[in-house]
Amino acid sequence: MDLGTRLVAAAADLVDSRFPGRDWAGAAAMALDDGTLLTSTAPEVVNPAVELCHEVGALCEAYRIGRPVVASVCVVRADQGRGFWVLSPCGVCQERLRFYGPGVEVAVPEANAPALWRMVTLGELQPHWWATVFDGEPI
Ligand SMILES: [Zn+2]
Repeated sequence: MDLGTRLVAAAADLVDSRFPGRDWAGAAAMALDDGTLLTSTAPEVVNPAVELCHEVGALCEAYRIGRPVVASVCVVRADQGRGFWVLSPCGVCQERLRFYGPGVEVAVPEANAPALWRMVTLGELQPHWWATVFDGEPI
């Protein structure tokens, strides 16, 4: 099983175990450079203005243990609970993941077929990333 498939399965497993029976729920999974897989989900909050992305928990854990992230996926349960769709990382998560370089792989859905997905690098996802004006390095 390739890394992307393992990550999607890990994120879907977290959704199934943490939110059984819920129609709409999501989770993320990340792979680190040593092969470790981390999963996380967004905590529920009262005020939507303070919501976090599903990726944040895994990203913070990777940083805590000092291991680079090499791949990331985010999934949501869809189709009335019959399957999962892959969500591209939002712009903020793209910025967070970019700390680990343009080679980080992320899952993206196929257009008009969100149950189908593929892995692309951040460099492919955002070829005009703002810091490329500085030779690809952040300020
Ligand atoms: Zn995000």
